[in-house]
Amino acid sequence: MFDNHSHTQYSGDIPMGQGNSVRELCIAAIEKGLDGIAITDHFDIDGIFDGYFPPLDHKSIASDIASAREEFNGKLKLLHGIELGQATHMPDESTAQLNSQPYDIVLGSVHAVRGIIDFADTDIAGMSKNEYVRLWEQYIEEMLNTIEWGNFDVLTHITYPKRYYLANGITDFPDIKCKSREYFEPILKAVINKGITLECNTSGLRQQMGECLPNEDILRFYYELGGRDVTIGSDAHKAIHLGANFAEATEMLRSIGFDKLAKFESRKKDFYNL
Ligand SMILES: [Zn+2]
Ligand SMILES: [Zn+2]
Repeated sequence: MFDNHSHTQYSGDIPMGQGNSVRELCIAAIEKGLDGIAITDHFDIDGIFDGYFPPLDHKSIASDIASAREEFNGKLKLLHGIELGQATHMPDESTAQLNSQPYDIVLGSVHAVRGIIDFADTDIAGMSKNEYVRLWEQYIEEMLNTIEWGNFDVLTHITYPKRYYLANGITDFPDIKCKSREYFEPILKAVINKGITLECNTSGLRQQMGECLPNEDILRFYYELGGRDVTIGSDAHKAIHLGANFAEATEMLRSIGFDKLAKFESRKKDFYNL
């Protein structure tokens, strides 16, 4: 199995001294029996250009990956990826970055919408219902714009703001039972039409959400709409979380009907049996 979403010490959202090296991630991945991992450090392009996040050390990442590929050759497939956030806020700069490295996989993320830095750092508790509903709708709109832009392989962790809504005590929104499918129908149809892979991000299973991003209901809806193109990622910010909850997530995916997972090399998609 491939873990297509992981972060090293170079990722700008990891405090100094708390992350793991590429080598440490490789050792943990082999111990956990993973066939491959993608290193996909954060590149939240607007936050970096605004100076909110430190610049990503692309050179060191590439060099550490090259050394680890030699060291773990034959034991682990090590993929060089990037998690590109808010590409549509700076599309030319995003494309320039993607052309500057021989990436295997590009994750497309929406961690923020115009006007905020990241949902993680937004005072959602201080908002009125109208304001946080509007923010959610802006998230859906910007995600659609990102899919339309389309220069990435995997749409990551859809429902991301929900984690921070819950953390701020907002438990009734989005109303998953009544509204979730309505919000996500255009997104799911757009990724299917564009051939973009949908990520099943397991990080929520080890957090307050207690579910994957997106959750089973949305994944089921995606399947009903004809979607068969999914990947799985732990979004590990520490080596210990690589492959975390994959057994639970793959069982859920199988129960929906999925029998294959996507993986990438040199940005070419391939499927393997689930
Ligand atoms: Zn992310
Ligand atoms: Zn991530």
